[in-house]
Amino acid sequence: MNAIHELATRLRQARRVLVLTGAGISAESGIATFRDAQSGLWARFRPEDLATPEAFQRDPALVWRWYAWRREQVAEARPNAAHYAVAELARRVPTVLVTQNVDDLHQRAGSVDAICLHGSIARTLCSVTHRDIDADWLAANPGEPPRSPHHADGLARPGVIWFGENLPQNVLELACDAARACDVILAVGTSAMVYPAAGLPSIAQHHGAWFAEINPQATPLTPQADLVIAAPAGIALPAALTVWKES
Ligand code: NAD
Repeated sequence: MNAIHELATRLRQARRVLVLTGAGISAESGIATFRDAQSGLWARFRPEDLATPEAFQRDPALVWRWYAWRREQVAEARPNAAHYAVAELARRVPTVLVTQNVDDLHQRAGSVDAICLHGSIARTLCSVTHRDIDADWLAANPGEPPRSPHHADGLARPGVIWFGENLPQNVLELACDAARACDVILAVGTSAMVYPAAGLPSIAQHHGAWFAEINPQATPLTPQADLVIAAPAGIALPAALTVWKES
C-alpha cells in the first residue's frame, strides 16, 4: 500500500483525529515559514529577534511594524488546498485541529473551533494586563504602538505568544486532552522545534494513537512517526481525501 493510501485508510478507520499544523501548511498560500528567509525590508532580522517580550521592550515600534507587515501578508493570502482538506476531514470524522499558526487561514477555509496555541495575529492585547484591545479603538488611536487603554503603563501589543512566554493553561490543556483522546494524529508542516506543541504526537502515541507526519523535510519527530509523507501538505492531504472518497 502506498503512503497516501495508508493515510486514507487510517483516517477512514479513525474514531478521533488530531491535526497539528505549523507554518508549513500556510507556505503554499505564500506566507513564509518562520525558518525560511524573510524577504525585502525584513530580510536582515531573524524572527526569533522580533518575536520575544525582550524585543518588544527594546524596540516596540520595530516589533509593531513587523507584525503590521505580517498582518498585511495574511490579509492578502488565501487558504490553500491543505487548509480546505483539514476542514473537510473534520466533516467526515471527529477532528480536533490544533494549530501553531497565528494566521486565520484555517478558519477562512471552514475549520471551526481550532485550538490556536500561539494566539492570533488579528488580536491586539494590553502589554500589562493582556486584556483584548478592540479593533475600533485601535482604528481611532493610531501609534506604533499606541498606549494601552487598559493600563497607564501598558502598550498595545500583538495577541500572539512570543518565545519565552507561556501558553494559556486552558488552551494547552484542551490540546493535551485531544492528544490523549485521539487514535490518529497528523503533524502537518511543523518543524517540531517548539514545545509544548511538538510534544503532542508523543502524548498521543503514548496513549496508543497512530502518528503520521506530512512535511517535505525531516524533523525531530520523523523517526518516531508510523508514516512519513515527504510531500507538500497541499498535495498530500487532498490526495488522501480523494482516495478515501473513491474507496
Ligand atoms: P517552522 O517555520 O519552524 O517550520 C515550518 C515547517 O513546514 C518546516 O519543517 C518545513 O519543512 C515545513 N514545510 C514547508 N513547506 C511545507 C509544505 N508545503 N507542506 C508541508 N510542510 C511544509 O514553523 P512551525 O513549526 O510552525 O514553528 C513553530 C512555532 O514557532 C510557530 O508557530 C511560532 O509560534 C513559533 N515561532 C514564531 C516565530 C515568530 O513569531 N516570529 C518565529 C519562529 C517560531
